[in-house]
Amino acid sequence: MRRLTKILNIKLDLKKLILFLALSATIVTFLNSFYSSYQVQKQQLKSETLKSQSAYAAKLVSATDRFLQSAQQQLAYSASVIEANFANPAILTQEVERLKRQTDSFNSTVIVLANGIVKDISPKSLKLTGKKLDSYGALQALSVKEPMISEPYTSAANNLIIFISHPLFDANGGYLGYLGGSIYLKRASILHDLLQVHFHKDGSYLYVVDKNRRLLYHPDTSRIGEQVYNNEVIEAVLSGNHGTQQLINSQNKAMLAGYAPLKTAPWGIITQRPLEATLEPLDGLMINVLQRTLPIGFATLLFIWLLARLIAHPLRDLAKTANSLHSPHVAQQLKDVKSWYFESAELRKAILNSVGVLQNQIGMLRQEAQTDPLTGLHNRRSLDTTLTQLTVTHTPFAVLAIDIDFFKRVNDEFGHDIGDHVLQSLANIVQDVTRTTDFVARTGGEEFMVISPNATASSAYLLAERVRMQVSETFIDPVGYIHVSIGVAGWPLQQLTLEEILKLADQALYQAKHSGRNRTIVDSHYQGTDSEKTAEVR
Ligand code: GH3
Ligand code: MG
Ligand code: MG
Repeated sequence: MRRLTKILNIKLDLKKLILFLALSATIVTFLNSFYSSYQVQKQQLKSETLKSQSAYAAKLVSATDRFLQSAQQQLAYSASVIEANFANPAILTQEVERLKRQTDSFNSTVIVLANGIVKDISPKSLKLTGKKLDSYGALQALSVKEPMISEPYTSAANNLIIFISHPLFDANGGYLGYLGGSIYLKRASILHDLLQVHFHKDGSYLYVVDKNRRLLYHPDTSRIGEQVYNNEVIEAVLSGNHGTQQLINSQNKAMLAGYAPLKTAPWGIITQRPLEATLEPLDGLMINVLQRTLPIGFATLLFIWLLARLIAHPLRDLAKTANSLHSPHVAQQLKDVKSWYFESAELRKAILNSVGVLQNQIGMLRQEAQTDPLTGLHNRRSLDTTLTQLTVTHTPFAVLAIDIDFFKRVNDEFGHDIGDHVLQSLANIVQDVTRTTDFVARTGGEEFMVISPNATASSAYLLAERVRMQVSETFIDPVGYIHVSIGVAGWPLQQLTLEEILKLADQALYQAKHSGRNRTIVDSHYQGTDSEKTAEVR
């Protein structure tokens, strides 16, 4: 995963991860339901088509059965008329004509004598009267001497036909011949009309086979008469079954077939509809499904996006604040984070705790960094910060440079520890005498500095003197009395820099030392800025 994000150069965060998770779950669910609804619809369309194909085949079978039965009944009726008037050729001719014209069932009708000679025929144009018929159907009719429907064969007039015949007997039961009607298979016929009605534009078609697997009807008339082997549906229908099947036809197209066998003849009818035509409404159905599911899908995604933001937000804020734990506002920032669920709330609590500890430590370190460990006064670094702040804010101030007189002797006489004790005592005295707004620092071994903001030269002088007097009047056990020298300078002064002002304070201290110690000297320039001229005082 890490490698992948590196390759894609994506910076992953929680929001993206949640979004990714939700998005992939939504998409997978959506695709899955889309696919399954596609499959269900497809299955439904197929099974409906198969059902209707089967019903359709059954309907065609019953229509064809009825047609063949009625054709046989017509022959039987005409045969009775012919038997009764066998000696009257005019009536025979009339009946043959009537049968051909009136019923429209046959393409030709014929009376054949027991010797196979044509007695009468309609239409006359066939020119077969008086000729002997030796076609397959004619011979079969003569031999069986009972009502029959022939197999397809090529007639004397060179038409592929089926032949339906009825025997003729005299009053004593003597065989006279037969009455027959032919139905063309390849040319227009009543059978064609019957079946062609059901021809569809969507590629649906039907065909009829006889027991020899020979096509009796097919929309492609060139195939009529052809024998078809190895066709599962033909085998099924010829075994007397009806049913449905999906198959690949001779044109290599997937078809949905229904089939049923006839009762009056050993034939089967097979109806077929292309799978493609059946599934055509599927696209529309699926677009419908899309139209219904997409808005909900988008609403879900929007909801997830908002939720992802809500979930990620507190953690993101916590992560951001965790990056700035040193900031003084971090505690407030943490309190502002809306940790609305358990984990983020716990995390916030933990970070807040550690921020507390950290900031305490930072505070202590800062304090230590700015404090002189021996006296607890500010150190040099802290002094520099204060001086910078004062100059930046243009606050005038006085500088008191304080140095203990003959401190070396204290060390020499009482030892270094007592020396330290004296330094601490001095620190306390200076702190007591100065105001809280004054800033007291230990700047060196036994050197101190007081910064007095907004002081004038005279007020600074008075402050220095108070310090000096207080020191000299305080008994420090076991050393006794000590005294200090103090140099005073002030800022701002002409164009002098801070360093130059500090140097002036040092020079004033130097003067105090050299003019006898235990005294205060105010830098002459500083003193000049004040109307109250205060000279050096012992
Ligand atoms: P002066 O009047 O000229 O200032 O004389 P002084 O003896 O005070 O001379 P100086 O200022 O040169 O001497 C400073 C002495 O302070 C030297 C050193 O032994 C002592 N000292 C410096 N730092 C410390 C400290 O931290 N503790 C102690 N006990 N003594 C210190
Ligand atoms: Mg010194
Ligand atoms: Mg000294």
